Amino acid sequence: NSNHKDKDKEVNVQVVLRCRPLSDEEQKSHVQKVVSCNETKREVTVLHSLNNKPIDKVFTFDKVFGPKAQQKSIYEQAISPIVNEVLDGFNCTVFAYGQTGTGKTYTMEGGMRKKNGNLPAEAGVIPRAVHQIFDTLEAQNADYSLRVTFLELYNEEITDLLAPEDHSRTSEDRQKKPISLMEDGKGCVIVRGLEEEPVYTVNEIYTLLERGAAKRRTADTLLNKRSSRSHSVFSITVHIKEATVGDEELIKCGKLNLVDLAGSETYLVQVHARAREAGEINKSLLTLGRVINALVEHSTHIPYRDSKLTRLLRESLGGKTKTCIIATISPCFHFVDETLSTLDYAHRAK
Ligand code: ADP
Ligand code: MG
Repeated sequence: NSNHKDKDKEVNVQVVLRCRPLSDEEQKSHVQKVVSCNETKREVTVLHSLNNKPIDKVFTFDKVFGPKAQQKSIYEQAISPIVNEVLDGFNCTVFAYGQTGTGKTYTMEGGMRKKNGNLPAEAGVIPRAVHQIFDTLEAQNADYSLRVTFLELYNEEITDLLAPEDHSRTSEDRQKKPISLMEDGKGCVIVRGLEEEPVYTVNEIYTLLERGAAKRRTADTLLNKRSSRSHSVFSITVHIKEATVGDEELIKCGKLNLVDLAGSETYLVQVHARAREAGEINKSLLTLGRVINALVEHSTHIPYRDSKLTRLLRESLGGKTKTCIIATISPCFHFVDETLSTLDYAHRAK
């Protein structure tokens, strides 16, 4: 049936753009803004110069959020429908992609601590998704179980951000406890040595998240600016009991991956031979771009196997999955080249 075939060919990649506001410091020093966002027309305009002549470059995305956009409205408009898919038994992934300092972590994590039981206005995608999942399942009185993992990928090595601290090791050893990816006969990826924590309440997830985020920050101070070169992946797996047939239980399973990618400046750097020699290639970021391009173009070969990140997310990219890329940019004049590069990368994913 041809209808079915079209459905198979559909690519569920959504690209959302977010421009952060000027920081207080930037405002004080009257930094020139070169980005303007038209949320209604879903357009971003960047003023830059070509051969010393000022020109406007316009990009269109599935959604555009300007500097005044609130965490809540980004979540409701772009992410909440994806979380509903997860609850229907699909695998979905949300990426934050952009230059360091443009708001990837703010968008994904934001303020996570709850204020007297409520989400703070600055709460980002992760805490909001966790709430939506719990609230929906509780309201349905569902019989369900949730598991979460939180890992960091740095230099093609995976670190478990939820692993309990092992005080018998030196701090350096503790930062580097590589985890291996294995494939079973059916092409399914198994992450060996990763803690998978069953969780029963929202508060338990918060505790885990804070533990993981703190670990990431510690690694950051030990290894100068590590977070700008590492990817973090927070995943929630949901199992929902649908029915009992005879003595068999029918289970629906969905997975949500929330990925805070390495700074996109590490992607731009790939093209410079000097960076290559210095071993600064971010293989995972490079391959992710290629995989998404291949998916969008319906290529027969999708290069999942070329990096750890794409191997890890293989079952959640392509096929019947939904992917959302939130590209984050700065409005400042002095970052215009990075901004254009981010817009180009994100636009190619459409
Ligand atoms: P990244 O993770 O991309 O390096 P961060 O999320 O750490 O960037 O953001 C850099 C700084 O800018 C942080 O202090 C953050 O709180 C602030 N920031 C980023 N985006 C926003 C936004 N939309 N609104 C307010 N502050 C923001
Ligand atoms: Mg960050």
